[in-house]
Amino acid sequence: MLKETGALISLQPNASKIISSWGLTPFLEPCEPMVDRAFRMFDTDGKLVREINFDFAKFGADRVVYHRQDLHTALKTAATSTKLPGPPVEIRTASSVISCDPDKGTVTLEGDEVVEADMIIGADGIHSVVRQEVVGSPREAIPTGTSAYRMLLPAESLAGLEIPKDVLDLAKPVTTMVVGHDRRVIMGPGRGGKVFGIVALVPDEQMREEAAAASGSWVATGSMSALLEAFAGFPAWMLDLFQRAPEVALWQLRDLDPLPRWVRGRTMLVGDAAHAMLPTQGQGASQAIEDAEALQAFIADLPNRPTKEQINEALLRVYEARHERASLIQGFSREQARPGTSVGSNKITLNPVQFLEYNCNYSGAKDWLAKNDVAAAVGNLNINGS
Ligand SMILES: Cc1cc2nc3c(=O)[nH]c(=O)nc-3n(C[C@H](O)[C@H](O)[C@H](O)COP(=O)(O)OP(=O)(O)OC[C@H]3O[C@@H](n4cnc5c(N)ncnc54)[C@H](O)[C@@H]3O)c2cc1C
Repeated sequence: MLKETGALISLQPNASKIISSWGLTPFLEPCEPMVDRAFRMFDTDGKLVREINFDFAKFGADRVVYHRQDLHTALKTAATSTKLPGPPVEIRTASSVISCDPDKGTVTLEGDEVVEADMIIGADGIHSVVRQEVVGSPREAIPTGTSAYRMLLPAESLAGLEIPKDVLDLAKPVTTMVVGHDRRVIMGPGRGGKVFGIVALVPDEQMREEAAAASGSWVATGSMSALLEAFAGFPAWMLDLFQRAPEVALWQLRDLDPLPRWVRGRTMLVGDAAHAMLPTQGQGASQAIEDAEALQAFIADLPNRPTKEQINEALLRVYEARHERASLIQGFSREQARPGTSVGSNKITLNPVQFLEYNCNYSGAKDWLAKNDVAAAVGNLNINGS
């Protein structure tokens, strides 16, 4: 998080519901969470083409926007708190895992210290070290052909911008999207209206970002001039807004094909390590939270001193509950990255709420397993998007 340049993150109703069921609401209050109330979509002429008011009562929770650092701090405070059930989590920093023995239940840290446990949860993100050990062969995240510019603007820096309030009210808790054929912009306020976040998606080959290419990194500093060039032809108010950003970060977006396994022996992959996905539906972190709930649900059934076999069985139950759903949502996220308009026109074909019902209608892993014939659902979608 020290390296985080600053960005907003939304938790979808499926994750917000879990977070509040864990009693975390008091820990999240200092984050000044913003409940997203509507979605407004514009074409490149700046014409409003779609407006959806979010009424998520049927999902039992809201879509809530946080600053990433605030959410991280709140979750860390809750995990280490003595006010919640269970012993507080002990966090060790500067302890990079370099390898893992999934059957023995050991991880080796930089410096060769070996740590042993009943169970290992590989929550080590898109570049996971544990993934290879669990899957049995290297599975790297794949460039998806799209990059994301990210900007976070302090509210004070927006003063004097001449944007009519019926186009964009910078303080209103609404997500605004401007859609072109192969590029789009998603934006909205955060931290109780103190900041305004922007994500601009562009095809990699359109970036003209020599610095990013030269650095060989997939996270780099982006240039304002390349960003403005990529979005020339979009509404002038949007470009005015970009130019107020104090800095521009650039991410090459990568995801994973669904993995054949998440579990080996005493070890399980969760979150981006298991199912990194494109951010086009804002479901990555929400799916990681679903994984955590599933672990809780099935580990709670274990006896006090579980055997290796009992641990493995519980982890396989988590996998059974989660794999098809997360794989489908990986596929939906690729679907949502397809061109936003029909070829040669600015008529918008993208439907950002296409998968909303499936994604958000969720009440935990055991309920999901009981209700869904997930195998049949997988048969209906080619998750590789070909
Ligand atoms: C532009 C963009 C916008 C997004 N917007 C949203 C959104 O609005 N909503 C949403 O739900 N998701 C969003 N996502 C996705 C979301 O950020 C990820 O899905 C989420 O952070 C995954 O959480 P994680 O805990 O699995 O992995 P990470 O957040 O990557 O955390 C992994 C952790 O493991 C640690 N680690 C890594 N390797 C090691 C090692 N070898 N040893 C020890 N520790 C290690 C890292 O330091 C890190 O702390 C977005 C992603 C992008 C790129």
